[in-house]
Amino acid sequence: MNPNELNQRVSAARAETEARGETFYPGPSRIHLAAFPPKERWDDWVEIESKSWPKKEERRYMLVPTTCFNCESACGLLAYVDRETLNVRKFEGNPEHPGSRGRNCAKGPATLNQITDPDRILYPLKRAGKRGEGKWTRVSWNEALDDIASRIRKAIVEKRNNEVMYHVGRPGEDGFTERILAAWGVDGHNSHTNVCSSSSRAGYQYWMGMDRPSPDHANAKVVFLISSHLEAGHYFNPHAQRVIEAKANGAKLIVFDTRLSNTATHADFWVSPYPGSEAAIVLAIANYLIQNNLYNREFVRRWWNWKEFLAIENPELPTDFEIFEEVLRNQYKSYTFEYAAKESGVDSRVLEEVAKVVSTAGTRFSSHNWRSAASGNSGGWQVARTLFMLNALLGAVATEGGVYPNAWNKFVPKPIYTPPHPPVWNDLTWPVEYPLGMNEMSFLLPHFLKEGRGKLDVYFTRVYNPVWTNPDGFSWVEVLNDESLIGCYVALTPTWNETSYFADYILPMGHGSERHDLHSYETHDAQWLGFRQPVLREARQRLGEVVNDTREINPGEVWEENEFWMELTWRIDPDGKLGIRQYVESKEHPGERLGVDEYYQYIFENSVPGLKEKAEEENITPLQFMRRYGAFEISKKVGAIYEEVVPEKELEDIRVDRFSRVYTTTAKPSSTNIVPIASPDPDEDGRRLVGVKVDGQILRGFPTPSGRLEFYSRTLAEWGWHEYAVPTYIKSHVHPDNLAEDQTVLISTFRLPTQIHTRSANAKWLDEIAHTNPLWIHPSHAAELGVRTGDMVRVETEIGYFVVKAWVTEGIRPGIVACSHHMGRWKLTDEGQKQMMATVALDHQGDEWGMKRKRGVQPYSSSDPDTLRIWWTDVGVHQNLTFPVHPDPVSGMHCWHQAVRVKKADPTDNYGDISVDTDKSREVYRKWMRMTRAADKHSPDGTRRPYWLMRPLKPSRKVFRLPDSEELVGVE
Ligand code: SF4
Repeated sequence: MNPNELNQRVSAARAETEARGETFYPGPSRIHLAAFPPKERWDDWVEIESKSWPKKEERRYMLVPTTCFNCESACGLLAYVDRETLNVRKFEGNPEHPGSRGRNCAKGPATLNQITDPDRILYPLKRAGKRGEGKWTRVSWNEALDDIASRIRKAIVEKRNNEVMYHVGRPGEDGFTERILAAWGVDGHNSHTNVCSSSSRAGYQYWMGMDRPSPDHANAKVVFLISSHLEAGHYFNPHAQRVIEAKANGAKLIVFDTRLSNTATHADFWVSPYPGSEAAIVLAIANYLIQNNLYNREFVRRWWNWKEFLAIENPELPTDFEIFEEVLRNQYKSYTFEYAAKESGVDSRVLEEVAKVVSTAGTRFSSHNWRSAASGNSGGWQVARTLFMLNALLGAVATEGGVYPNAWNKFVPKPIYTPPHPPVWNDLTWPVEYPLGMNEMSFLLPHFLKEGRGKLDVYFTRVYNPVWTNPDGFSWVEVLNDESLIGCYVALTPTWNETSYFADYILPMGHGSERHDLHSYETHDAQWLGFRQPVLREARQRLGEVVNDTREINPGEVWEENEFWMELTWRIDPDGKLGIRQYVESKEHPGERLGVDEYYQYIFENSVPGLKEKAEEENITPLQFMRRYGAFEISKKVGAIYEEVVPEKELEDIRVDRFSRVYTTTAKPSSTNIVPIASPDPDEDGRRLVGVKVDGQILRGFPTPSGRLEFYSRTLAEWGWHEYAVPTYIKSHVHPDNLAEDQTVLISTFRLPTQIHTRSANAKWLDEIAHTNPLWIHPSHAAELGVRTGDMVRVETEIGYFVVKAWVTEGIRPGIVACSHHMGRWKLTDEGQKQMMATVALDHQGDEWGMKRKRGVQPYSSSDPDTLRIWWTDVGVHQNLTFPVHPDPVSGMHCWHQAVRVKKADPTDNYGDISVDTDKSREVYRKWMRMTRAADKHSPDGTRRPYWLMRPLKPSRKVFRLPDSEELVGVE
């Protein structure tokens, strides 16, 4: 539908609604959708009971908002709580949510399957036999909390802070648990980001000092995606709906994906390059813009750090913009379409046509790379870096239809307490070899533990399943089975997973409608805050009940993490003598533990601009407002913050350096909500970077060391990677130069859009839609191998092999194969999620591991009659077990693409067979470690890591110093 038609429909709907004497209800979606129950009627909404048909039986509901937890997008959900039974009957979209605007993907409504899952874990469990033996005993929360708290307390008292680690997959919250760890004084935050997105983050961070893009797809003229955004990419549903909006308005959609993704099927240009060649193509497009003067000269002159580049790299040249332009032309002239065609295998005429389309976009050019090529290849971070270079050339940065830095399109409120930065540095997560690693080197943990770099006394996982999610899962099994390396493993999980079988405690935590969290994401050019809440708690409170503990309303003894972490913290320091308890103490009732109502009430009353006033309009408190509507839009059309003039009051005692950076002694910027601070802590002379002088004015700029967009990264140049200081193309580890004759590339970085990593194993609606992951093979390749769809093939990696079925399709580049992750779930015993986990037997001798499938899934009887209707047996194959670790030497990202040999399966092979040699995986690990450039050899200032780079749970500045460093510059 074009915009005119849409407007006409909206006007007609308004007229019709008002003619009936009803209020027209556009909501934040600005589109009248009659299906959205108006918010005024959320306390008592009536629907006809579908199961009573043809009898028209009325059902009354209370509609309670929460936030979906089934991917990172944090879309709004509305729980339909039956007023009679107080059970949730369904979840639909929340029209009050500015990001999702009432819409969800299939995984949102499937939250109902998760909360009614007959196999879910309802009570705390403690290991009863040996690790991994599958014997459990039910324990009380008190017993579990006291045991875990006393271990953590002892570790802290004995100064073994680094032996406490919290390893999170999907956080789904903004910093709550990081602050808990900071309160304990441990540098124990570990994330999954280096097996997910740190490569793209690196590419963006080196340009703009913020690690994610916020593309304004809806208003773009050209949308350029390097990943499958409409089905499985970043901010899946919120972005998908805006990409489609752009297309409806006539925008051109360019998609780079070696496989025909759902997104590619909507593209005007689907480019299927050889994996890893993406940056070469993007640079050919950049070169086309540069050589033909099709870039935004004024933007480049004002906002690129070209003066710094010339001064440092070409000191003999005058610092003139025209000179820089000439250098730029020379720098990129070798990236011709012919060169890109040679690298990518895509016709140079197609690439030229794409470049011409890009050149027409002007400042309405939205682009996005997340995971995909960046996460597949060594040097993949240059994919994001070169892609953003197109925006930087076109001046499409923080413009309507362009790309914003994420920090300007999200909102993180100040919490009730902010504990200090931990005074320790954890080498198990931030090793010296990766000074520029974007995130924790999480997937190397088993190797580090085996090498004796440290050990863990208490190890938590949360929404994380490293044995299944990470590469090299058997190395994880080996360390989890070794109690001298991991003393106590606590799995916080709502469902059974492959890693939890090796736990000492399994603690049941709530799904998306059973817990509190706050979050805000860069879904479009706006700032909003979403509130996840236990919906039955709110429903009961609306009925006048007092609920003090979320366990009172959750099934069994399922808890939520906010209350869990606060209680655990309280028990670590019961008398407050360690100085820890103060960060979870009630301000209203000193001496008592903080509760979630007080925690969120404080934030909503004190830290969210405009919320108090909005709530007052309805005569309710800010907390009641958020419990009632689930989201609040703080601002729209944020604009180009970098062009804002810095107010006089922030410019006390300024110093301007030779590259026009402006430093001040003023303590803080006037607004810290959207103004990123390049240097939040004072520099060596007591000043912090406040802005940058551009054409005589002091402007906010970007939070990079130069204050500008960094075409030239002095950080990369100074920390040992001079050859990558400007955007460039790095040949991937799967480049044809690096493959043997009989090897090809396996792409494993995509997923089916209806599975949720670990937590959808019993989401029956999703399982019925998608439950297998065959190997995509082009017909020409299949003919060479002599295989047809359904035949079994053996895929050999560097450390083993897996056996999977073939799917012959033209939706993949000839010669390349692909297999979706999110599949191949397994369990060792009958305990577990029975709808999507096969039962397997492990065979283990020395370093050699084998897995054989005993049986697939089958119908079974449970409290849900649908489990007797399970018609599928296949659950796919767990390919990640056969992948060794490939840590990118710069970004630290695991490079997922695999060099493999694909063959027809042997007669003795069975579907799902897996074989791995962990000795070989150690060899591969060591090979990649040899490529690193460690801080102790390459640090320019005696520190472990550039202080300005982002780091979750940043420790205190003094521990950035390398232990034996003599040259200490810029540290306290
Ligand atoms: S995109 Fe789907 S899974 Fe993700 S938050 Fe939205 S509804 Fe949930």
